[in-house]
Amino acid sequence: MKSYRLSRFLWYLFAVPRCAVCRELLSAEDVLRGYVGADVLCPSCRAEWESEKLESCEMCSSPVLDCRCMPELLSTAGAKSLICLADYRPDGAVGRLILRLKTAKLRRAAKFSGKQLAAGIRRECQTYGILPRDLLVTWCPRSKEKRRKIGHDQAELLARAISDSLGCTIQPLFLRAAEGQAQKLLGAQERVENAGALFVRNSAYKIDGRSILLVDDIVTTGATMAHAAALLRGDGAEVVLCAALGRSRLRKNKK
Ligand SMILES: [Zn+2]
Ligand SMILES: [Zn+2]
Repeated sequence: MKSYRLSRFLWYLFAVPRCAVCRELLSAEDVLRGYVGADVLCPSCRAEWESEKLESCEMCSSPVLDCRCMPELLSTAGAKSLICLADYRPDGAVGRLILRLKTAKLRRAAKFSGKQLAAGIRRECQTYGILPRDLLVTWCPRSKEKRRKIGHDQAELLARAISDSLGCTIQPLFLRAAEGQAQKLLGAQERVENAGALFVRNSAYKIDGRSILLVDDIVTTGATMAHAAALLRGDGAEVVLCAALGRSRLRKNKK
């Protein structure tokens, strides 16, 4: 226990860690006490984060992490559930982390939020009689250009954190299609509809009737994930579960 404190103390000295959301210097005392998330978020962002997770879904009134509502596009595509931490607000703690992950490779923050999503995913696995370690994790890939520009893919970062937490395999089941080429295959209307979903199945990896967990950082209309889920189902995936840090608020009157 003592050596654990010492290693945390040394880590703190060398890393000089800042809050993943507001960039404020983290408190050494909090980190040493080992509070959950103290090495990722400052106390006020932590409080905001936890209260956002408890905000209720407009459709079913459950907290978002317990709610299994999803955009209609996604259920039509054959996805069974969407597991999210919170409704996305650009000024909220979860929302600001999503925005920061788009430009910074925040491993500890990804690990912290991946672990929380994993708890919801485990519960969902029970519903479908899946062993979490049997899940195959994959993600909706960014364009090569974006990856080059920022040096990482935030959906992959999150997917890796979740697969570590669940102890299951992760594979790149999708390849980003060369954008010009993919667009050429589509009609004008479809180009608009598929603007965010320009990837194809990576045939180097087989699905063989396994259940898949599909990860992205945020779900807005659900079009990108629906595109991916449909490809997975079409290729023989047994159950497709989806997970994201945030989702656009689902509204009752939007039916
Ligand atoms: Zn903060
Ligand atoms: Zn709901």
